[in-house]
Amino acid sequence: MPMQSTSPGGDSPVPARATTGGTTRQPPRSATGGTTPQPPRSATGGTTPQPPRSATGGTTPHAPAGDGPRNGEVSWWWRALGGFPVRRSSLPGPEEADVCIVGAGYTGLWTAYYLKEARPDLRVVVLEAAFAGFGASGRNGGWVTAESIGSRERYARGPRGLAGARDLDAALRSTVDEIERICVAESIDCDFVKGGRLSVATTTAQLARQRATLEASRAWGDGEDVLTFLSAPELAARIRVAGALGGLFAPHSARIQPASLVAGLAAAAERRGVIIYEATPVTAIEPHVARTVFGDVRARTVLRCTEGFTARLPGLHRALLPMNSSMVVTEPLDDVTWREIGWTGMETLSDEAHAYIYAQRTADNRIAIGGRGVPYRFGSAVDDRGETSQETVGALQAILGRLFPAASGARLDHAWSGVLGVPRDWCAAVNYDPATGTGSAGGYSGHGVLAANLAGRTLTDLVTGQHSELTTLPWVGHRSRTWEPEPARWAGVHGLYVLYRTADRLEAPADPASVPGVAGPAPKPARAALAAALGRVGDLISGIPH
Ligand SMILES: Cc1cc2nc3c(=O)[nH]c(=O)nc-3n(C[C@H](O)[C@H](O)[C@H](O)COP(=O)(O)OP(=O)(O)OC[C@H]3O[C@@H](n4cnc5c(N)ncnc54)[C@H](O)[C@@H]3O)c2cc1C
Repeated sequence: MPMQSTSPGGDSPVPARATTGGTTRQPPRSATGGTTPQPPRSATGGTTPQPPRSATGGTTPHAPAGDGPRNGEVSWWWRALGGFPVRRSSLPGPEEADVCIVGAGYTGLWTAYYLKEARPDLRVVVLEAAFAGFGASGRNGGWVTAESIGSRERYARGPRGLAGARDLDAALRSTVDEIERICVAESIDCDFVKGGRLSVATTTAQLARQRATLEASRAWGDGEDVLTFLSAPELAARIRVAGALGGLFAPHSARIQPASLVAGLAAAAERRGVIIYEATPVTAIEPHVARTVFGDVRARTVLRCTEGFTARLPGLHRALLPMNSSMVVTEPLDDVTWREIGWTGMETLSDEAHAYIYAQRTADNRIAIGGRGVPYRFGSAVDDRGETSQETVGALQAILGRLFPAASGARLDHAWSGVLGVPRDWCAAVNYDPATGTGSAGGYSGHGVLAANLAGRTLTDLVTGQHSELTTLPWVGHRSRTWEPEPARWAGVHGLYVLYRTADRLEAPADPASVPGVAGPAPKPARAALAAALGRVGDLISGIPH
């Protein structure tokens, strides 16, 4: 790909693609805020904040000694592409634009892309604190999935009632094909395979939850084309998960290489004339202005697309909770292992635990698997480079071995983490106020890979004043209340995951079966009842919709 600048294991600083006067400018070490970045000493560079020394290796303060996986360094997805992308220039100084977008993840880039498609005459400027795809968009599990991005019941309380909520579901489902369409049209090679989504149950309690999910789905009006139940043998025909008792299959889901998508999207947006400034943290968003240390960008419209990083902006500390998610990736697995596992359909995979995992088979035959790890850092802090605790790495490795005994000896090549944005009612929203010219989209609570595309198209219609089917969807104008102040916020999230993990442990059979379709000894009724109660209390505390 044209955007790479470092080779794996390279040690050279990432060069800037363009300069503002000969001197290359590098991103701040704390790329998205944290420590407030300093302005360059001179307009053309001088002393500038430094990037991590090497994207793909070299000197890595977080790399563990010995044979452990690489740790942090944003994600394995970027490493697989050969390293961080070539750095674009920072904002050279004060500027004017028609639309200024803050954040170059999927949300900001899709919005920029569609805006230029709708109105090529607009000057669209994207300001990115680090580099395009530095956030969750370059780190995620690669599920392009049409899962609900909030509570259908809550969305149904909007002015369009049930019809509005159903339209939102349908719009999400059709977005899988829209993303594929653009990837083909723009020659974005991101390993897109629309294999559907599988969820496996490995305990009787998980199986009961699957049946309840299916019933709720049918009651909502979804047919077999949206969600179907797979018996253990039907599931095993697709994928052999140890101890699997059944599964749910949803066809509207695809697997991608996340960094390839975000890199390709940034390039496609630029081809349309979008201007992306990197290493340019926005310090405040006000009506018609985005403030940076390099100067202000004045624009008719300013859109905030900062999802998990939103808490760092003034006045937004409690708007979206930065929830951590952690991933590990194995070495490429051999053919013998894959014959045991199956998984030839490249479905995205999850389980039904309260603290669930998500996984994909990568294009180069690895398993990438993720889960919650440390769920939340006090004060909505964000670890920029995605360093992941050994405890989390060990926990994910143990789950990998439990689900796929054939892969239990596989080496882990990389571990990383990132943040996603969770609103207090877990309902994503797209907002735009024509009076102040400000807007935002996010709060997808872990389902933003697909939803960001729909959000981008919706923001485009709102900004350009097009009344459309998209602008009447119930997440438009949806408002969530703010999160509790600390320490209640920290205690609530950590308490929630203590409850969930305890419930998962209580639900697990004493001696888990390793044969698909054969349950281990069921937990005693009192244990099962306690697990169910803990799970329900957790749901109540969190407000997570079902
Ligand atoms: C480990 C992990 C796994 C996930 N797996 C999945 C999955 O499989 N499927 C799924 O649908 N979703 C998944 N998600 C969630 C999904 O990745 C996100 O919802 C989605 O990428 C959000 O895109 P975004 O553009 O809104 O935010 P981001 O991709 O986080 O982009 C925000 C950008 O804004 C920049 N920024 C922040 N503050 C400022 C500022 N002040 N000034 C300038 N720039 C700023 C950041 O540097 C960042 O580049 C996962 C998330 C994580 C962390």
